[in-house]
Amino acid sequence: MSKKYIDVHTHYAFKDYEDLKKIYETENIVGLCSSTDLHSYKDLEKLKEKNINNLFFSHGLYPDVLNNKTLEECYKELDQIDFSKGIAIGEIGLDNKITKDKQKREEQKKLFEKQLEIAESKKLPVVVHSRYASKHVLETLTNFKIPTILHWFSGTDKEIDEAFSRGYFLSLNYDRTKVNITEENINQIFIETDYPIPYNNKTNILNIKEAYKIVAYKNSLNINYLQEKIQENFYRLFKIKI
Ligand SMILES: [Zn+2]
Repeated sequence: MSKKYIDVHTHYAFKDYEDLKKIYETENIVGLCSSTDLHSYKDLEKLKEKNINNLFFSHGLYPDVLNNKTLEECYKELDQIDFSKGIAIGEIGLDNKITKDKQKREEQKKLFEKQLEIAESKKLPVVVHSRYASKHVLETLTNFKIPTILHWFSGTDKEIDEAFSRGYFLSLNYDRTKVNITEENINQIFIETDYPIPYNNKTNILNIKEAYKIVAYKNSLNINYLQEKIQENFYRLFKIKI
């Protein structure tokens, strides 16, 4: 089994198709590409038709969609998404950075809970966004029993411990998530780029290799070992052999 670089949280678009195809054919990369709204869902459906090997999808409405839509409109959009076309539900969650308004935050929570219910009923894992909202995200998740990836989680040390103790996976983004990998938690680790977010001013699909290098170096781990462990995590969570 060749060692893979799994990017568990990306946002490719259909326009990336030619680059993606070349890179996925030659570079041992595996991706979980998430939609954030109805527009990107439709875009990714087109990308999926291209059948790029080792490129997987997850669908959902992320919290910022409520900035220019009502909750009712969002519920209607959920009806238009075929969640079974993905291997997870996401990107979903809470974002307190942009949304200060109390009522809007309540609506975010309702939209998040609605999609957690869908995940529960369809037995799909979730990819969760928690910007400036780690406490509220953990609170909301307590009511659900769903395999969970907290992407780019920026909680406190206590919240990180809590997430691990509940069995959640933490997806690390370069050196910006302050998790120390240990023998106890390495079975709950993923790595991501959150592409197209740039690293060192560069937006590059291959940044995932940089992310693995940085995480391995920071935790004094052999990169092959890290790849092997994350590959095992991917299999345990999604039951997909890559
Ligand atoms: Zn994202």
